Amino acid sequence: MPQATKEIQTLIEMMAKLPGLGPRSARRAVLHMIKKRALLMAPLADALHTVAASARECLTCGNIGTADICDICQSAKRETGTICVVQDVADLWAMERAAAFKGRYHVLGGTLSALDAIGPDELRIPKLIQRIADENITEVILALNATIDGATTAHYIAEELEGVVTVTSLAQGVPIGGELDYLDEGTITAALKARKAF
Ligand SMILES: [Zn+2]
Repeated sequence: MPQATKEIQTLIEMMAKLPGLGPRSARRAVLHMIKKRALLMAPLADALHTVAASARECLTCGNIGTADICDICQSAKRETGTICVVQDVADLWAMERAAAFKGRYHVLGGTLSALDAIGPDELRIPKLIQRIADENITEVILALNATIDGATTAHYIAEELEGVVTVTSLAQGVPIGGELDYLDEGTITAALKARKAF
């Protein structure tokens, strides 16, 4: 079996470290890129170079952008007064794809975890508390993952903010188009607890 040269092998090994790609997918991706060198590989290399040089965390909310303050924090069209707290940037982007929230965000950068020795100061929790005062925030929406660590973090933040600001959280329950038979017990239990008048 023909082996890739050292340079190409290095590229394959780096690609294989990306989430969702293993060695086999990485080999296929690299071969595909080489075949489409002008159309795909050269522009991709340029884009990687540009983003590697310019990507940074927003100093206010923790979103990833290419300026010190992200587009959302800079936008005059976003409502002030409401902050949606998410665990990671991927969650913020998921919320934005849904386009249902018009306020601003705060990315924690993880969840509290006794096991991994991650306390409030390791997350962007002090900065959140500071923003609530600085930006006259009236509501904090907790949009954390429905995991044990996510729930622990949500409880901690809710306690810290008690009497300071209204704290709400995303409803949990049966997804749109979801069939009960396919849901796990945790989702069904959460949906039952969060039931509302018909
Ligand atoms: Zn921002």
